[in-house]
Amino acid sequence: MDTTPEFPSLQIVRHPLVQHKLTLLRDRGTPTKIFKELVEEIATLMAYEATSDLTLEPSSVETPLETTQGVRVSGKKLTLVPILRAGLGLVEGVLRLVPGARVGHIGLYRDHNTLEPVDYYFKVPGDAAERDFFLLDPMLATGGSAVSAVDSLKRAGAARIRFLCLVAAPEGVRRLAAAHPDVSIYCASLDRELNEQGYILPGLGDAGDRLFGTR
Ligand code: URA
Repeated sequence: MDTTPEFPSLQIVRHPLVQHKLTLLRDRGTPTKIFKELVEEIATLMAYEATSDLTLEPSSVETPLETTQGVRVSGKKLTLVPILRAGLGLVEGVLRLVPGARVGHIGLYRDHNTLEPVDYYFKVPGDAAERDFFLLDPMLATGGSAVSAVDSLKRAGAARIRFLCLVAAPEGVRRLAAAHPDVSIYCASLDRELNEQGYILPGLGDAGDRLFGTR
């Protein structure tokens, strides 16, 4: 993983398989079915990196031959929180690696007048203070939704939050890092910029539409 001096809370996953699959994702010719599979595969690989500093505790285990000392990830089950709807595309890929994780959901829409994100759905486990959260959204664009989702999680008591995306714009990383410097951000690519419509350049287009074939 790489860091950049400008964004200390950002980690860029440089694994060759992630970068190879990201290029296929960017390709406008990649069909919906393959796009969805690639998003899941990248999510699995990124989850591997983003969980590399989870803390372990000793745990004894009985093998068929004797009892020995092992380890287990300490604390309560991890909680994945996709931001609806594109975040849903990342869930299965992360669950493949962390099958016991709980899954919350955050629904946000952009108010046409204020252009600010408005919460329309929020459901996470009740004991939020004791859990590690992975907030999922393929695109960190303006950062508005990400900041709002982290605000909501923190209001619910969450203290340990990581943000997992595929492609990030500098504008979004800057905004999320300024509002929540304690949140580690993981992406596969830090792209160049946002265009006037809020799309990331070079990006991969509308992740939700490409995942669900709604365009
Ligand atoms: N959301 C997307 O799906 N794509 C972008 O480029 C920006 C936001």
